[in-house]
Amino acid sequence: MSETVAHGAKPALNALLAQMPAVERVIASAAAQTLIAQYGRTQVLEAIRATLDGWRRDVQSGAHPHADDVQHPFSIEHVIADADIALQKRSQGKLRAVFNLTGTVLHTNLGRALLPDESVRAVVQALTQPANLEFDLATGKRGDRDDLIDELIGELTGAEAATVVNNNAAAVLLTLSALATRKEVIVSRGELVEIGGAFRIPDIMSRAGARLREIGTTNRTHLKDYEAAINARTALLMKVHCSNYAISGFTKSVELDELAPLARQHGLPVAVDLGSGTLTDLTQWGLPAEPTVRATVQAGADVVTFSGDKLLGGPQAGLIVGRKDLIAKIKKHPLKRALRVGKLTLAALEPVLRLYQAPEFLRERLTTLRLLTRPAAEMHEAATRALPAWQRALGESYEASIAPMFSQIGSGALPVDVLPSSGLVLRHRGKGGSGRALLRLERALRALPRPVIGRIADDALHLDLRCLESADEAAFIAQLAELRL
Ligand SMILES: *Cc1c(COP(=O)(O)O)cnc(C)c1O
Repeated sequence: MSETVAHGAKPALNALLAQMPAVERVIASAAAQTLIAQYGRTQVLEAIRATLDGWRRDVQSGAHPHADDVQHPFSIEHVIADADIALQKRSQGKLRAVFNLTGTVLHTNLGRALLPDESVRAVVQALTQPANLEFDLATGKRGDRDDLIDELIGELTGAEAATVVNNNAAAVLLTLSALATRKEVIVSRGELVEIGGAFRIPDIMSRAGARLREIGTTNRTHLKDYEAAINARTALLMKVHCSNYAISGFTKSVELDELAPLARQHGLPVAVDLGSGTLTDLTQWGLPAEPTVRATVQAGADVVTFSGDKLLGGPQAGLIVGRKDLIAKIKKHPLKRALRVGKLTLAALEPVLRLYQAPEFLRERLTTLRLLTRPAAEMHEAATRALPAWQRALGESYEASIAPMFSQIGSGALPVDVLPSSGLVLRHRGKGGSGRALLRLERALRALPRPVIGRIADDALHLDLRCLESADEAAFIAQLAELRL
């Protein structure tokens, strides 16, 4: 006990501590049995002990838990209630559903693409039933997991062969490892990009044991630069799609259809890292032009790599498509075994690819495309429905209003304002200190049962409703009852 406790305080303290029930009495109570049925005796016992220990510490430091219950502050019911809260918290999964109202549809930190129901059903089946992952049902012999999607990808991209790995970073690493270790890879300086922190083309290149041969300048690279760099050690000419930035002004880059003939002349393959890549022409829905995989293959790329969970709208994966002999070489590399995808990824990917076989329904059925093409009027209507409840929940200190805003595609697609949207703008009413009030609001929204993630801009918290689909609206509004500001 602390020596600073005044004389006379100690007996009172001991009397309080003596009121606390013994662990054995609590665990034997009827109320405890309900918890035991749910969490098991081990966890409940631990939670009761921790609750009582916490109370003792509180009392010793002068606090008085459950002081509002003057008669029985330390009743068994209070122990059970506190233990229940602790157990609930402990059993809550770490990976939780959130509302992505950041305005960025393919948000890397929030899990990128959302998948269609067809994929959900296939994943559940793969989780609960054995499947022919590497088993050829026709011959009864061992199969290859890539065979599940190889033909389909060929049909959608025009490529001769395909393989799938963990993500596009893995696809690039594997491609370079298989085709260019101890050799040189020629890349334009304007394309030596960094994507999302840890992925830098020069770093991947050295990890793959390939030597990077930089050519041209940041803003201008000519065909003759490639030509001059080709030598006996050259293994590959590589192009990287500058997903997340644009160089404008006095620029020159060499397009694939110019580069491919030069490569062929020298008997060298061209690899293209498309980044997002897409299997369909997005401009038909008013979205910005992104090079399709098919057009890239047609323009002469021998190998193309792209992500599964960006514009494609599937699970995290890296797809490698291209010439049969090169894909075969890539698949034989030992890293392929280390970077391969699991059955859940393939289960989720196949139905997404199948959606592309019926382009008429794609906009409605492919979740990513549906979100990207939602008309602003829909989000405006949702904002109108949500506004009164938000204003009520926020109280006097904050003002909620509806405003037009712009969403972004995300995951490297050009960050320009091209997707008109609508949403709620939450602003602090007080003068001064609104920065702190906004952070408090942001934190309170993150503490909701299904955390709401917005974006702070212009001294206000913006909630872009593009990714709030109608099925989720009721839950979005109902949980406001739990908002604690
Ligand atoms: C996004 C991106 C990558 C990395 O893809 P992941 O699937 O996130 O591993 C690589 N290259 C480019 C050009 C990209 O845009």
